[in-house]
Amino acid sequence: MPRGASLTRVKRVLVLGSTGSIGTQALEVIEGSPDLELAGLSANTDREQLLEQARRFGLDRVALAAADTADGDGIEVLGGAEGLIQLVVESGCDLVLNGLVGSAGLGPTIAALGEGIDLALANKESLVVGGELVMALAEATGAQIIPVDSEHSALYQLVNAEERPGSIDRLVLTASGGPFRGRTDLSGVTVDEALAHPTWNMGGKITVDSATLMNKGLEVIEAHHLFGVSYDHIDVVVHPQSIVHSLIDLNDGATLAHLGHPDMRVPISYALHHPERADVPVERLDLATVGSLTFEPPDPATFACLRLAYDAGRAGGTAPCVLNAANEVAVHHFLEGQLAFDAIPRVIEQTLEAMPAQPVGHFSDLYRADEQARELARSVTA
Ligand code: MG
Repeated sequence: MPRGASLTRVKRVLVLGSTGSIGTQALEVIEGSPDLELAGLSANTDREQLLEQARRFGLDRVALAAADTADGDGIEVLGGAEGLIQLVVESGCDLVLNGLVGSAGLGPTIAALGEGIDLALANKESLVVGGELVMALAEATGAQIIPVDSEHSALYQLVNAEERPGSIDRLVLTASGGPFRGRTDLSGVTVDEALAHPTWNMGGKITVDSATLMNKGLEVIEAHHLFGVSYDHIDVVVHPQSIVHSLIDLNDGATLAHLGHPDMRVPISYALHHPERADVPVERLDLATVGSLTFEPPDPATFACLRLAYDAGRAGGTAPCVLNAANEVAVHHFLEGQLAFDAIPRVIEQTLEAMPAQPVGHFSDLYRADEQARELARSVTA
């Protein structure tokens, strides 16, 4: 399609996970963009908010992952994992925004890419769990994956601006460090303390992942697959102000960085409008007002999850899937008050030790490993 043609055409966007933090901000971006139109919505359990959103956007069909599929006010409600896939395949959309939480996001990712539909990916677990197979599927159907994660959106823009692929030496992801930055003892941490993120406003699961640094570990694996860079060339630097979103080092000694105030509407808007850019009503960056930006190395001794993620990424095969499943179980138990915060990495490590990496030939290998890892992790937490 010639570049000009995309300007005159409205892009139809399907938003999965529409009641979550990414989903609600995506709807805000779509409402403010005449060139974007909402093609459909899905939510996990919040039926009332989902129906309210459908009425607001004049939709007659939605999907709800929870079992309650009784239609509401003439709005058809598709149910369960199959309903979600049906919504993706039948919506006639140009772009799927996958804002689901956890490995539950893998199915819709496969469905969208398999249909050749471009994917705005906020569900990092799709790549953590299914990395090689997901990238190969996109390659085969020609669908594009545009990352929504702020660090990966930054890297995507930096990497794509550099036309000689061999010139990139290193990717550097920034991490806020979470609420426990600088601490060396994480015993006795409460749920409320773990949910108090200093710079980003996000959902519960990812906020706990940010506090353990597992979120950064998952992002390292995500970056490895998205950009085809080996783990030895992906680094993490702690940057508490969250103004620099990521950097790339080039072979001539230059380093390029992507900056802005932390606001997810920016990477969401970038992914939804790509390859165009649209106005976003966010605070502009004034470095003189910010004053200083600080950086420090991560502390892998206290935050073991980051090390575990690198190890699982390097082991490859089923290991990142096992890492992710065990982490989802451990974080769930922590949020329910059944597991200590500093026991989260122990649960993950024991699960990984019990399930050494196996090669992955098909998505079914991943679903089996995910299920087995969850069972093991539950028995370890019990
Ligand atoms: Mg991120």
